Amino acid sequence: MQFNDLHRQYLSLKDELDKTIQSVISNSEFIGGKHVEEFEYNFSNLLGVKHCISCGNGTDALYLAMRTLGVQPGDEVITTAHSWISTSETITQAGGKVIFCDTEPDYFCIDTKKIEQHITSQTKGIVVVHLYGQPADMKRIIEIARRHNLWVIEDCAQAHLAEYDGQYAGTFGDIATFSFYPGKNLGAMGDAGCLVTNQSEYADYARLLARHGGKNFHKIEGINSRMDSLQAAILNVKLPHLKAWTKLRRQHAAHYDALLTKIPDLVCPPVREGCQHVFHLYVIRADNREMLRAHLKAAEIPTLINYPKALPFYPAYARLNHIREDFPVACKHSEEILSLPLYPEMPVSDRVQVAQSLAAYYSSASNTHKLVA
Ligand SMILES: *Cc1c(COP(=O)(O)O)cnc(C)c1O
Repeated sequence: MQFNDLHRQYLSLKDELDKTIQSVISNSEFIGGKHVEEFEYNFSNLLGVKHCISCGNGTDALYLAMRTLGVQPGDEVITTAHSWISTSETITQAGGKVIFCDTEPDYFCIDTKKIEQHITSQTKGIVVVHLYGQPADMKRIIEIARRHNLWVIEDCAQAHLAEYDGQYAGTFGDIATFSFYPGKNLGAMGDAGCLVTNQSEYADYARLLARHGGKNFHKIEGINSRMDSLQAAILNVKLPHLKAWTKLRRQHAAHYDALLTKIPDLVCPPVREGCQHVFHLYVIRADNREMLRAHLKAAEIPTLINYPKALPFYPAYARLNHIREDFPVACKHSEEILSLPLYPEMPVSDRVQVAQSLAAYYSSASNTHKLVA
């Protein structure tokens, strides 16, 4: 069994993909050009935002977003304790100070009830993550940001086409960032990313920053962060299928829900009211996760832990001297979470096999438990 079988997706679009890749090679149009422009146009159209600036990857997109919003040394930026490190490392790289906030007990996203306790006179913005494809509580977040005059960046690396109150994730904040890393819900065949915004000043500045401050007029010092034409061409072939793939992810998640609710020891991922989750990952919670994971591994069922620690507890943040009590929810989750295989082309039989293996584990585990008791 595969956790995410990218080859199946390739095979389903093989003719179109091979043709577009061949045409990029034949025309030697490797940087910039029509495929990149087309992708920026198509992606902003799909989301209903004014501007899309393509770049090298989702991490660069976050860095560019933060520089665009003018992060200065000493500025504090609040973000979630539970994410991939791109979300927080780019705050530091842009010159800011990372202020971690704990997460919600049910939804794994930043806990809006705990944001305001971290706001000081130095706070400039909030970076929210729609983790695993579940939208963060954007209504509350935007309220808090308005009240305290803060900017908001949405890290949508896992949340292509996720919806909150009928509105796409990535259309609430000042800037949103996307990753098209191969395993993401919309994936290239290498690294790629973009940022989107409705504000032209931000779009102009981010584009300058990502292109050396502007080719041959270098208004500022920038960086070199471009989406390859090859990747853009591939993404243009895949983009029209994103809605159908997203629907399949939701159906598979619902199927898992139905199969797994019979197992009382497991917590399936709940969907926030009024939201459309896009299930980049289907993450269950379980006690004794390591034993469960080993059981699944023995049955050749691959799983992942996204992520093994809350961000403040990696060596990279030892300087912040955090203790477990600072982020009780994120810490607890890091010990319970387990990502199960899920991708649009996933066969029904795989989900059934996963569920059977989980059920078998708990029936034998509870027997053992009873014996000990
Ligand atoms: C994947 C990911 C990123 C980074 O994207 P890359 O394209 O790999 O640089 C950022 N944030 C989150 C939450 C991610 O999952």
